[in-house]
Amino acid sequence: MIKARTYEGQTLAVFGLGRTGITAALSLARGGATVWAWDDNEAARAAAEKSGVTLKDLSRANWNDCNALVLSPGVPDKLPKPHWTALKAKEHDVPIICDIEIFASEVAAKPENERPKIIAITGTNGKSTTTALIGHILQSCGKDVQIGGNIGRGVLDLNKMHAGMHYVIELSSYQLERTHSLRTNAAVFLNLSPDHLERHGDMKAYETAKRRIFDNQTSDDAIIIGVDSEPTKRICSEVTAQNGRRIFPVSVKKCLGRGASVMKGKLYCNIHHKAVEICDLSNAKALEGIHNHQNAAAAFAAVQSLGLDPKAIGEAILSFPGLAHRMETIGTVGPVRFVNDSKATNADAAKQALKSYDNIFWVAGGQSKSGGIEPLSDLFGHISKAYLIGAAAPEFHKTLTKKKVDHKVSGELEKAILCATRDAMASKKPNPIVLLSPACASFDQFKSFETRGDAFRTYVQRIIDLYEQEKNRMTAA
Ligand code: ADP
Repeated sequence: MIKARTYEGQTLAVFGLGRTGITAALSLARGGATVWAWDDNEAARAAAEKSGVTLKDLSRANWNDCNALVLSPGVPDKLPKPHWTALKAKEHDVPIICDIEIFASEVAAKPENERPKIIAITGTNGKSTTTALIGHILQSCGKDVQIGGNIGRGVLDLNKMHAGMHYVIELSSYQLERTHSLRTNAAVFLNLSPDHLERHGDMKAYETAKRRIFDNQTSDDAIIIGVDSEPTKRICSEVTAQNGRRIFPVSVKKCLGRGASVMKGKLYCNIHHKAVEICDLSNAKALEGIHNHQNAAAAFAAVQSLGLDPKAIGEAILSFPGLAHRMETIGTVGPVRFVNDSKATNADAAKQALKSYDNIFWVAGGQSKSGGIEPLSDLFGHISKAYLIGAAAPEFHKTLTKKKVDHKVSGELEKAILCATRDAMASKKPNPIVLLSPACASFDQFKSFETRGDAFRTYVQRIIDLYEQEKNRMTAA
């Protein structure tokens, strides 16, 4: 854990006692701050107290004595409705921050030559994959690496800082909104499309929050930016107009005169105005699909900007093991491959998987998002048959009937997988894929997208085991 010494002697209110809130409270207390920790949920308060956090009912606190409110990123301070602690803070001119800001002030308090390297990643889609990939590359290149933020561990839970440490941090727009002094040595901004608008109000506010990732950078620091989405292309032009910035654009659509590009599956970077082939991403088994090629190119550019050897980076990309629940191959039965893309909780995310394969036996459904699967219509040609589960099944059934896509309402995940496997085996199509890419949240049937993906893995493993037993029996006979 990182002790937050920069707040020594101050009083901080911490609201939202999930994992990150508890760590922030402990880190501040260990660094010498007075901490008032609270949560609206009694069970969360009890768990925090058990972990050694001192509670204080913030509705009765004297906010004039409070130096800052550390508000959990998931708790709104403006839209859709400000939380009561945010109103109290604003009433008393108390700044609202999050754990990333505490981490940033710890880094800033160190003399320049003792500061760790900070690589931060944001964007609407691909943050976790790119974060994990950058972490993997740096580790493969022998660096001391800590990965956290919006993925895995909270930043203050990471190992303590030293000059050689590389922190790879995934940042959401919610976290960036409450971060003021973070200086990143490399900032990756992958793409931008409408999301979280109920919280930000409009695209402009969402973009403003994300752009904070570039705040406090100096001319030594690098900006890595995807130029395949219109908003990030414009942002790239705008930051380029500010002279003296080190900018590495990234594209999977065209070969760029600088930065990194992917053409026909091959990753190129520009060295001395010449495109140099780095690696063939078709050999990166855990980075299938154009979207993952964008993540790979961005990760490459981020690590290259730190001065690491392009060849070593390319080799490390190819050995990336991938992240669970994101187009994760679970196994095969005869010609059929099983792919777990449970993280695809909306149509935009599911689009990436549907684009990446043909002959798909598609398991979809759950708690529907607005717009349903209509936006995927262009990709329905990739689907051999769909198997619908959960609350969205009737709505998806209507869409697929209208678009004349063969489908079946299965209801439960296990039944859907069994039917999909049977049909895929019988299909005689080349390389059939049984794909869980639900285009829906999981909460109607599962606790989270992770438990949904784990259930998929369990059912598939059972099918694989049965198939193997049967095969062995036949061989022995
Ligand atoms: P995030 O952390 O931003 O949610 P993940 O890396 O967890 O992103 O990927 C979540 C889903 O988003 C993936 O399953 C995939 O469908 C989609 N995705 C990943 N990378 C990209 C990208 N670069 N562009 C568009 N979609 C992507």
